[in-house]
Amino acid sequence: MIAVLKQGVSKQQIDNLCNWLKEQGVDVHISEGKYYTVLGLIGDTSKIDMELLEDLEIVDSVKRISEPFKSANRKFHPEDTVIEVGDLKIGGGNFQLIAGPCSVESEEQILEVAESVKASGATILRGGAFKPRTSPYDFQGLKADGIELLLEAKAKTGMPIITEIMNANHLPLFEHVDIIQVGARNMQNFELLKELGKIDKPILLKRGLANTLKELLMSAEYIMAGGNEKVILCERGIRTFETYTRNTLDLSAVPMLRELTHLPVVVDPSHATGIARLVKPMALAAAAAGADGIMIEVHNNPAKALCDGPQSLTPEQFKDVAGKIRKILEVVRE
Ligand code: PEP
Ligand code: MN
Repeated sequence: MIAVLKQGVSKQQIDNLCNWLKEQGVDVHISEGKYYTVLGLIGDTSKIDMELLEDLEIVDSVKRISEPFKSANRKFHPEDTVIEVGDLKIGGGNFQLIAGPCSVESEEQILEVAESVKASGATILRGGAFKPRTSPYDFQGLKADGIELLLEAKAKTGMPIITEIMNANHLPLFEHVDIIQVGARNMQNFELLKELGKIDKPILLKRGLANTLKELLMSAEYIMAGGNEKVILCERGIRTFETYTRNTLDLSAVPMLRELTHLPVVVDPSHATGIARLVKPMALAAAAAGADGIMIEVHNNPAKALCDGPQSLTPEQFKDVAGKIRKILEVVRE
C-alpha cells in the first residue's frame, strides 16, 4: 500500500503518521520527492483501514499495490535512485562504463587492461576473482589474490572496482571493493542476498539465466529489505531456444525495469551474446535503450584468456565501442 501525502506537510506530521502506522505492525518507507512525499507501507497491510487513512488531513491519496516488491517499486519511490560509487554516481541520468577482464589472471594483465580501458573512457574496472564456472576443472579465479590485484589496479588508476562474490563468508575480503557483483547463478541465493542486505555497499545484481524480471526485482527486494538500498540491476541475457548466441539479450528489460523500479539498470552485452563481434551492436543498442551503465569484458589477449575469451574485446575494439557509446548517449540525452 502507498500513501501519497499532500504538499507542504511538516516533518512532525509525517513522523506522527509513520508512528501511528508502525503501531499497526507495518514498516514505513519514506520517499521524499521534490513535490510529494510518498509513504510505502511494507508488510501485512490487511489491518490498515484504507478509508480512514485516506480521510486524514495530510493524506492526498492511498493505493493498494499488487506487486510483491515494495522497496524496489517505482510507485513507492517515483524518483530514480542515484547510487554513489567512489566519486562517481550511477542512475538518474548518470551513466557509467564498466570494463575489464572476465577474470583477473595476473598483475601484468589486470594493470594493462585497467590502464587501457581507462584511457578509452571506462569509469569502473571489472575483474572476476571468484569465478562461477560450469566445470569444476576449469580455472576458478585467483580468489583473494585476485582481489588484491584489483585493489592494486584501483590504487594505480583511481578507478573504482567491481568483482563477484559467491560466498558470504568471503565478505571481509571485499572491504575495499566498491561494488559487489552477484552473478546470474546466485541471483536466487537468498542467504547470500540477505547477508548483502546487512552491508552498506553497492550491489550489482545480475538477472538469473532463466529468471523473470519480477524474480529479479524480488531478489533486489531481499537485499533492500535488510537495509541496503544500493542495488544496481543488470540484464545479461537469458537462456532461450536460440543457440547461435550464448544467451538472448532481453533489451526490453531496460525500459520495462525503468517503469517498474527506480533502481539503476546496467546491461552486459558480453555474457548476453558470448561473441565478441556482437558486443558492439548490442552495447550501442543498450545505450540507446536507456541503460544507466554498460559492462563489457576486455582482455589484452582474448585468445589466451583463462575465461570467456571468445566474448572479450581487445583494448582497441573497446576504444571504438566506448567512443560510439558516447555518441549514442549524446543523442539519447537530447
Ligand atoms: C561475469 O560477470 O563474469 C559472470 C560470471 O557473469 P554472469 O553471472 O552474468 O554469468
Ligand atoms: Mn565472464
